[in-house]
Amino acid sequence: MENILEAKDISISFGGVKAVQHLSFDIHKGEILGLIGPNGSGKSTVVNLISGVYPLDTGKIIFDGQEIPHDEGIAARARRGMGRTFQTPKPFSALSVYENVYITALQKHDPKGAHEMTEKILKETELINLAEMQSAKLPIEKRKWLDLARILVNEPKFIMLDEVLAGLNPSEMESSLALIRYLNQKLGVSLLFIEHVMKAVLQICTRCVVMEEGKLLAEGDPAEVLSRKEVIAAYLGSEEEE
Ligand code: ADP
Ligand code: MG
Repeated sequence: MENILEAKDISISFGGVKAVQHLSFDIHKGEILGLIGPNGSGKSTVVNLISGVYPLDTGKIIFDGQEIPHDEGIAARARRGMGRTFQTPKPFSALSVYENVYITALQKHDPKGAHEMTEKILKETELINLAEMQSAKLPIEKRKWLDLARILVNEPKFIMLDEVLAGLNPSEMESSLALIRYLNQKLGVSLLFIEHVMKAVLQICTRCVVMEEGKLLAEGDPAEVLSRKEVIAAYLGSEEEE
C-alpha cells in the first residue's frame, strides 16, 4: 500500500501544553482517513504541523515519498500538492465568487487559462450558478465550498478538511459529503477528514485515527474504533469537563 503521507513521531509543545506528542500515522493514497478526538486533543495542530504553519519539535513528515525539510514553508508545501481548509473560511468578502477563484488562479495561469480553470472548478464545486454573488452574501455552506474551490486551483493530491461540516444542517451536510466523495473518487484526492459528526465519519472514512491529549488513542476501522471503550471514555470525559 502506497502512502500519500506519513507522520512519524511528530510533536509540538506550546509553553507547557503538549499539543501533539510523538504521534505517528499514515494516510494511504486514495483514502479518506478520519481524524477524531475530543476538543483540545490536538487535531487542528496536526493539520498546522503538516501544512507548515508550525515547525516540528520532534519527528518527520513524508509526503508522496519525500521527506519535507523542517523549515519548508506553507507555500512550498502547497506547491507539492497539499491543501487544507480552515475551521473558519475567509474568502475575499468584497469580491464575487468568480473573482475569488479567478484571482487565485491568476497566480498560476495566464488570464485565459485562469478563466478556464475557474469555470471548471466552479462547476465541480457546484458554485457556477452563484458565480456573480458577492462572497460575503454566501450562506455558510457555500462559503466553505468556495474555500475548497480556491484550494482546488493548486490541483492538490491531498487535502486536510478541518471540521467542514460544523454549523451545517442535515441536507447541507449530505451535499457536502457528496462533494467530498467527488473529490476523492473523481479527482483522486486523498483526504484527512477531521470531524465531530460521527455519522459522517462512518459514512465516508476508510479508516480512522483517534487522538486524546495529543497522543494516538486508537486506529482502525471506523465502526470498530468508535465502539472501543477507551474511545467512548475519552469523549465522555471531555463532556464532563465542559
Ligand atoms: P483540537 O483541534 O483537537 O480541538 P487543537 O489542536 O486546536 O485541538 O489544540 C490542542 C491544544 O493545543 C489545546 O490545548 C490548545 O489550546 C493548544 N494550542 C493549539 N494551538 C496553540 C497555539 N498556537 N498556542 C498555544 N496553544 C495552542
Ligand atoms: Mg480543531
